[in-house]
Amino acid sequence: MKRIALLGSTGSIGKQALEVVKANSRQFKIVVLTAQNNAEKLIEQAIEFRPDAVVIGCRNSYEMVRSALAPFDIKVHSGMDALNSIVEMDQVDTALIALVGFAGLIPAVNAIKAGKEVALANKESLVVAGELISSMAQEKGVRIIPIDSEHSAIFQCMMGENPQNVEKIFLTASGGPFFGKSIDYLENVTVKQALAHPRWDMGQKISIDSASLMNKGLEVIEAKWLFNLSPDQIEVIIHPESVVHSIVQFIDGSMKAQLGPADMRFPIHFALSYPERLQNQFPRFDFLQHPQLTFLEPDRKTFRSLDLAYYALSKRGNMPCILNAANEAAVDMFLKGQITFLQIPEIIEQCLVDIPYIISPDLEDLNQTNRQTKTHAIHLVNVQFKPV
Ligand code: NAD
Ligand code: MG
Repeated sequence: MKRIALLGSTGSIGKQALEVVKANSRQFKIVVLTAQNNAEKLIEQAIEFRPDAVVIGCRNSYEMVRSALAPFDIKVHSGMDALNSIVEMDQVDTALIALVGFAGLIPAVNAIKAGKEVALANKESLVVAGELISSMAQEKGVRIIPIDSEHSAIFQCMMGENPQNVEKIFLTASGGPFFGKSIDYLENVTVKQALAHPRWDMGQKISIDSASLMNKGLEVIEAKWLFNLSPDQIEVIIHPESVVHSIVQFIDGSMKAQLGPADMRFPIHFALSYPERLQNQFPRFDFLQHPQLTFLEPDRKTFRSLDLAYYALSKRGNMPCILNAANEAAVDMFLKGQITFLQIPEIIEQCLVDIPYIISPDLEDLNQTNRQTKTHAIHLVNVQFKPV
């Protein structure tokens, strides 16, 4: 029985993780659930899964959750400190981190420090602090099992292989809702259009990142730290059908790919089952539904975020943290209708230029960089970019 702390249980990954747990209730047990704002959903989930503890991020909702769960033997906490430290509980074997954005960093670090296995959906924590996290995990002998479908694919292709024999990896990208579109077209796209992903049903932030190709940029950085590769060993290829989840090419020219339905329950199930493989009843892949698979080059001129991510990765230090924070702030402003879609990479690029570079940041430096960059991105929109 694996005892799981599920952080971000009310989100897209969180809800699918609970489906996986429900489908394997003899192998997996939920001991912690957390949510930021959606108290009603958290209460509903807690009553169904009966964890030992829940955390509601938003303090205003504490009383509501506490009174709703009073008849049950479930501890209720609230606030950021509780969210950050709940993974340390003795009852936890695996921390499944499905929070979105920078907020996933400290829980991931604390889980590693406490020696807990980490099933990681939150790619931003590795983007921001990949160097720190991977060395800490190595030191502690803690396993990080990726949930991101591309990284789960690479992880699975690497099983039984010597990492030294990897020549390069290919991260596949669906291309998002704007694949094949021109700059002129992107000029006027709406939030609704950007959120309409053709293959995956995901949270808002990652949906916008997929539309801008920043998601793939973040994934390049994530792959660097998970698999200890150099940036030129990581290639991105557009694969609109989202059937091949990623590919490893070895030094003898042989390639291994991992395929399957575009359904996040598979990588979640794999991460929770690892090192075993457990049976499930999720729908199987049908080749005849996908008689043709295509692979194309990304349009890096139109979708500039990908190159910005490679640039930040090449500079290392706090640059990926600046990239991530500027992107989080810009996506948030885009979702609120305050900037246009094409202003997202402009803001990121300006932040990469403006925010002071730190060559070997510690966690406090990264915290500071994150805050400073987000404030600066908002400032840029107020003074430099014409509000829409
Ligand atoms: P989501 O927005 O649907 O859910 C986010 C969850 O985190 C919610 O439970 C929310 O309450 C919580 N949360 C949000 N902000 C928080 C904060 N500041 N502090 C604490 N908790 C907070 O997001 P999602 O689509 O489930 O994505 C989660 C993570 O998984 C992201 O890092 C994303 O990149 C990654 N991921 C998602 C998918 C997908 O299919 N959705 C695929 C691959 C990777
Ligand atoms: Mg992905």
